[in-house]
Amino acid sequence: MSVSVAIVGSGPAGFYTADALVKSDADYSIDIIERLPTPFGLIRYGVSPDHETTRKVSKAFERTALADPVRYFGNVELGRDIGFEELRSLYDAVVLTVGMPLDQMLGIPGEDKAGVIGAAAFVGWYNGHPDFTDLDPDLDIDAVAVIGVGNVALDVARILTKTRAELTATDMPDHALDAIDSASIGDIHIFGRRGPVEAKFSNVELREMGELEKGVPIVDGAVIPDEVTGEMAERDARLKEKNLATLREFARLEVEDGKTRLRFQFHAAPVEILGGERVEGLRLERTKLVEGRAVGSGEFFEVPCGLVVPAIGYRATLPEGVPLDARRGTVENTDGRVADGVYAAGWIMRGPTGVISSNRTDGRLVAGHIDADIKDGKKPGREGLNALLTERGVNFISYADWQKIESAEIAAARAGAPRRKFVTVDDMLAAAADTAQREAG
Ligand code: NAP
Repeated sequence: MSVSVAIVGSGPAGFYTADALVKSDADYSIDIIERLPTPFGLIRYGVSPDHETTRKVSKAFERTALADPVRYFGNVELGRDIGFEELRSLYDAVVLTVGMPLDQMLGIPGEDKAGVIGAAAFVGWYNGHPDFTDLDPDLDIDAVAVIGVGNVALDVARILTKTRAELTATDMPDHALDAIDSASIGDIHIFGRRGPVEAKFSNVELREMGELEKGVPIVDGAVIPDEVTGEMAERDARLKEKNLATLREFARLEVEDGKTRLRFQFHAAPVEILGGERVEGLRLERTKLVEGRAVGSGEFFEVPCGLVVPAIGYRATLPEGVPLDARRGTVENTDGRVADGVYAAGWIMRGPTGVISSNRTDGRLVAGHIDADIKDGKKPGREGLNALLTERGVNFISYADWQKIESAEIAAARAGAPRRKFVTVDDMLAAAADTAQREAG
């Protein structure tokens, strides 16, 4: 009997794990279970709408989804439609690839004020994630503070400066496109608690900040060191040197009137969000770097702003029964092994870092564990899942259903845009059903 594997989560880690299992010599039956009707996780909802080429990897995932041993079960949520222990009892192996969907918290006073919106939610909103369709952020403001100097912080800052002309050929939903287009934000502060050398962004993304129609990057040349110091691999040092060179170019730029000023500010750690019910400003402490860590200097300053977007990393939410490693914020695991017949890959295994292809390494690792650990299938797998979901009346959708949703999205796209995303689960399900009815008729 083939070994039955349930992969929970259809982002890059899920698909790379499925792909590695498909390519293994062993006989697997692989079910990818996804809480939304739509597959691809961060590829669809995390990758910035203006970085469509990064999404091309979903074509490879599609080949995996259509491979013989693989089935897709969309609109099935672990913890809501099926319990973790139930899934374990149905499958020889369960692989958790659920990512980290929640925002990391700053842990400072004022974080609960209206207008503090973490990057997971904010990006989700402008990327058409159904959980955030109704977020409705107030962008009728003069200034924004983005906390963190990683690639997500740059995504948020860049998108907020983009014009309708720059965004219309993307799949950004109309609700976000209209709100961003009608905003007249003058200043976007991007705060790093450490220095330019310690910033996490990559150079291609940093350089993009200098190529915007309306936005102009500003940085104080005095804070950019002459050279990269500190212990690091030669390759990392070269990448950091490139960032410093780009920041030096930014420091020399003329700032024309009417531009949105993207103000990079380093050595500044947020200590309090100011205002009444709504955000009115941010209080920060100047920091010094001591043994690689940001240490407060006792000198404070404030900036007025109407929106604070912490882009400082992500947190997990795990279904009941799945052990959390509280220190790392991941599922408790040793190199992807969680428990007997339970594995993890991607962010939920190692934390929210790395590029999309890092998940390929994870997928191969976990597929290798399963190859080594489980030789014979003993559990009902797909048949059992089908029966249980049907009995519970769960409206699960197949990959073919998703393809119908996708066709409807492509057909409805703005001119030049790749698709018009459905932004509610109901609309996605209706699209799958509508097309099915048309085909039947
Ligand atoms: P990240 O790269 O880890 O950056 C997080 C930033 O938040 C860092 O600057 C960090 O500073 C800062 N931070 C953390 N806690 C803080 C606190 N309490 N106060 C102030 N600052 C704090 O994370 P990310 O930007 O969320 O990106 C996640 C992963 O996705 C990364 O691997 C990223 O490269 C990848 N990604 C890639 C792309 C792309 O390639 N285009 C786009 C988006 C995301 P410290 O360094 O001091 O901790």
